Amino acid sequence: MNVKIERALLSVSDKAGILDFARHLHEMDVELLSTGGTAKAIREAGIPVKDVSEFTGFPEMLDGRVKTLTPQVHAGILYMRDNEEHVKTMEDHGLGQIDLVCVNLYPFEETIAKEGVTLPEAIEQIDIGGPTMIRSAAKNMKFVTVVTDPADYAQVIEEMKANDGTTTEAFRFVLGQKVYARVAEYNAAIATYLAEQVADQQLAKPFVKAYSDGKELRYGENSHQKAWLYKDADSREATIALTKVLHGKEMSYNNYVDGDGALEAVKDLAGRPGVSVIKHTNPCGYATGETLAEAFEAAWAGDPISAFGSVIAVTEKVDMATASCLDGRFIEAIIAPGYDEDALDHLMKKKNLRILKLNEPMGKALPQRMVKQINGGLLVQDVDTEILESWSVPTEVPFAENKKELALFGIAAAKHTKSNAIVLVQEYKPGQFRVLGMGAGQPNRVDALKKLSVSKAVENLKTENPDITEEEIQKIIGECVFVSEAFFPFADSIDAASEMGAKFIVQPGGSIRDDEVIEACNKYGIAMAMTNMRHFKH
Ligand code: 5GP
Repeated sequence: MNVKIERALLSVSDKAGILDFARHLHEMDVELLSTGGTAKAIREAGIPVKDVSEFTGFPEMLDGRVKTLTPQVHAGILYMRDNEEHVKTMEDHGLGQIDLVCVNLYPFEETIAKEGVTLPEAIEQIDIGGPTMIRSAAKNMKFVTVVTDPADYAQVIEEMKANDGTTTEAFRFVLGQKVYARVAEYNAAIATYLAEQVADQQLAKPFVKAYSDGKELRYGENSHQKAWLYKDADSREATIALTKVLHGKEMSYNNYVDGDGALEAVKDLAGRPGVSVIKHTNPCGYATGETLAEAFEAAWAGDPISAFGSVIAVTEKVDMATASCLDGRFIEAIIAPGYDEDALDHLMKKKNLRILKLNEPMGKALPQRMVKQINGGLLVQDVDTEILESWSVPTEVPFAENKKELALFGIAAAKHTKSNAIVLVQEYKPGQFRVLGMGAGQPNRVDALKKLSVSKAVENLKTENPDITEEEIQKIIGECVFVSEAFFPFADSIDAASEMGAKFIVQPGGSIRDDEVIEACNKYGIAMAMTNMRHFKH
């Protein structure tokens, strides 16, 4: 259906082309309504125009926040011309129709792009009436023409000239669709900007010294360094700084650092029994289990020697079976969402063990900012909360579908391990995973793979079964997944992995030598997946 345009409402921040558009509409006998600044410009150009306040019977108010947000404007746009009741309602209330809405929005995007813009300035540039009007017009595009882009003015005039002052429904649909795309883009810009403001406010939050009596940590990383803990007392997240110490010696500076690593690593296993065993911030043990005790043993077996003196975090309430796993083992601290009474009693027999209870239920790490101090400044970045961006397998051998869950577990483990990191993960029983060997913090990737993760894995397997044969070891390693937290710069790591029996490798990809790496995998019959997401941790 073609609809004649008799009355148009023009309200634009970007005045480009508006006078020409208004003149053409006027020449086709369209009555023009307009808001403050737009009306002024049109009037000054000698084109007759009615203030929208005259049409609505209300002045523009609240510094322009309310100009067109009235029933007169919105009923005029939204009523359905072929609905008798709608027509009658309009008549009963003495309301008039608006056939064309021409709006472009307050320049929010341009405003926030300016140097030094303040939050109140940005907020004032969030257009309310404009999006509301164009959404109304687009909803009623069966009858109403809506123009949001100055580039479309000429086409609208052409369309009207070609159709005796009317527009076609097909044309109105095209313009109407544009509205929702524009509003979505506009709202996304606002949401993104505000998310950054929230993150900045988080950074500026006052941290309070942890002990109200002013007591300091005993010392810092070393005994000659003084140290303090400051807490973000408003945090609603499970964090190491806010975790309650139920028992044991005071937490040391290093305990907090390792505790942070343990808690953040285990958060990636939340929702199932999971355990992280941390030494010097690296997960030397990391596992899931059918029960928490099983996960504990599997994690411990990842590196029983290094686990001595570790800090451990678990995903679930500690029961007696799990508490008993600590018997005869020395650990610095255990962090858990809670403890069964008998388990706590049992653990409290260890005088020095620090027993910590989470301040909040364990969730996934929330997107937030983290700060690192460098001399003379602070570095700020988003927390690495993701696991992977995509999953592609460029090798000739496909990546077995039933290895993918193990691979995802391995990526989580690698993400929490200092670079250069290689972890070797194993499905030690159906559906349950553990780190079998890991190489952390190495200046080169081949060493992390060959000298550390693989030799650790072999050592662990031999500890578990002193009679194990070389063939059996190769077979187990062939069932494992090697995960690298960053790309392989050369094919040498693949050569080394193949020598050790590797059959499955996961890495982000993105090296200029990816082709050589893929070729090497093909040569050895290795399946390699690429995740497109690096997890450097320095
Ligand atoms: P003008 O320059 O004509 O005074 O203002 C034009 C701008 O006002 C347009 O960008 C339009 O989207 C916006 N606008 C129209 N009605 C309202 C309203 O009721 N409230 C707000 N905040 N903006 C409006």
